[in-house]
Amino acid sequence: MTESSIFTRILEGEIPAEIVAETENVFAIRDIAPQAPVHLLVIPKTGEYRSVVELASHDPALLAEVIALAHTVATEHADGDFRLVFNTGAGAGQTVFHVHAHVLAGDLDEKSLNA
Ligand code: 5GP
Repeated sequence: MTESSIFTRILEGEIPAEIVAETENVFAIRDIAPQAPVHLLVIPKTGEYRSVVELASHDPALLAEVIALAHTVATEHADGDFRLVFNTGAGAGQTVFHVHAHVLAGDLDEKSLNA
């Protein structure tokens, strides 16, 4: 059995975090190290997909759910405009290999591109 990701441990309540939104298959939390005025992570509850590439090829409907919840939280926490970032691979800055979308919103500047 592979070890649970940090996001699975948050979902299961082992690590404290405020879940700001949740649907049957997806949840959203605040990033612990925000890179923008609003920086949320939208995460499939299943930890079986390591990257957005795996998610898109195996379960595109679940990817669509991630994007829909990103829009919802960007509307609830900012004006509805947002930047969506999927770091994909360690070389691109991915540190947690349980696919997640960074939702960056609020007063964005160029630095936020590097979240
Ligand atoms: P990645 O670098 O994989 O694209 O994004 C992982 C993100 O998870 C980082 O932005 C990091 O700040 C965030 N993160 C890591 N550990 C925790 C945690 O325990 N709680 C929360 N809320 N965010 C975390």
